[in-house]
Amino acid sequence: MAAKNIRVNVADLVAPAEWGAAPAAVRRAAIVRLGELAATIKRDEITRGVGVDGRQLRPVKPTSRPDGATGKPLDPHYAESRTIRLMAVHLDDKGITLFWRADGSRGSWAKILGYHADGLVPGAPVRNVIGFSPAGRRKLEDSFRTYWRNVTGQRRKAPVRKAKAVAAPAPKAAPAPKPAPAPTAPVPPPTPRSTGRVEYLPVGQKMNPRSRKIQVEILPAGRPRKPRTPTAPEPPKPAPPPVPTPAPRPVKPPAPKPVPKVAPPRPAPPPRPPRAPVVQRPKVVAGEAIPPKPPTAIESATAYADRLGVQVEASGHAALVQILGAERVKTVPAGYDSVSKRILINERHPSWSEPQAFMDRSFREKWFSSPAADHIIVHEVGHALHDRSDPDLYKVVRRLQLPLATTHLIKLEVSEYAASSPVEFVAEAYAALKNGRTLSDVLMRLYRKLGGPEV
Ligand SMILES: [Zn+2]
Repeated sequence: MAAKNIRVNVADLVAPAEWGAAPAAVRRAAIVRLGELAATIKRDEITRGVGVDGRQLRPVKPTSRPDGATGKPLDPHYAESRTIRLMAVHLDDKGITLFWRADGSRGSWAKILGYHADGLVPGAPVRNVIGFSPAGRRKLEDSFRTYWRNVTGQRRKAPVRKAKAVAAPAPKAAPAPKPAPAPTAPVPPPTPRSTGRVEYLPVGQKMNPRSRKIQVEILPAGRPRKPRTPTAPEPPKPAPPPVPTPAPRPVKPPAPKPVPKVAPPRPAPPPRPPRAPVVQRPKVVAGEAIPPKPPTAIESATAYADRLGVQVEASGHAALVQILGAERVKTVPAGYDSVSKRILINERHPSWSEPQAFMDRSFREKWFSSPAADHIIVHEVGHALHDRSDPDLYKVVRRLQLPLATTHLIKLEVSEYAASSPVEFVAEAYAALKNGRTLSDVLMRLYRKLGGPEV
């Protein structure tokens, strides 16, 4: 996993005793200078398209720049690009940390750069810019040492220094060891001045319009191979209460089936549509004193999402058809619409009438990550919570792709469907964790890195 920022410690550049001997004002000025040098050199490397390994970043395919931007990789709009615009420097008394500020409400831009560095961006090669190239590092060290010699050389004439060098054991600088782990969180600059000089041309935003391309995280009920209509469960179970538990047979897809309209299914539904002659099931029609029915799977799902504050359209078939097309919807029990922030339930999908049988089979086939009867809604809620925790980041994660090796691991550990994309990995992993399963450290790290919701 790539680093999140770039740390430079003075202790690596100047002998600690010498550093400690200098007056505080000189040290402070030197730190500011170090920050300026670091930012200038890093900005130059980004503009030239040089990565941490010192080589040119792999070129960008023109097609990935619908706006015709011509800058280097990760720097499509030159100084307007976020890699430059959001770069900032934090100063402290031991050195500097170059970091990337948040882009709007999204997390640190470094997180995005980290995705590039880790090769998670679709169609893009590994591009690591979180660090200096070897040449850049040398240039930084040389420039800073030159500066230091110059300022302390002048000082040397002042008698103060000698005495101090011996007397003051340089309490704070001396123990500074190796590159400290560095403040990880992008620390806000301590004073406006410290970053004021090394921040960049603030320029307009423009979110990539591609992010809206696909609107819904759908949940296909299985591999795209066969249409799979027969949900198999033959015996409709004797159903102890003589209640017309609505169990829409999959055989009749177009039956509009007034399934759970979310709220008011309670009062007996007398005008049951004639119902196709699908044999079986002695139907109690219009019973006045019918005892309360157990909730249908869709009602339970809606209630579950409700408790977590996630909106559900219990009759989402029509909306799904609009977005995905009628053909595709046939294999989709539900979807999460990240535009309207709602879960759309395909009330016509057979899985809702026999959820447990459906899930047993899907889990056996390793298509889904848990055998729970409510897997589908938990999965969709996973998307919703993921989105809610950081909507901008969610948009970005939706466009990422999983590296091949990770894909294999995910198929083994989580589910086949989880391997289809990072957002689906998060939702499937969420459902698996909710079901009490545990995942390896590697995948848990990936889960958190992608912003997976707390379980
Ligand atoms: Zn999904």
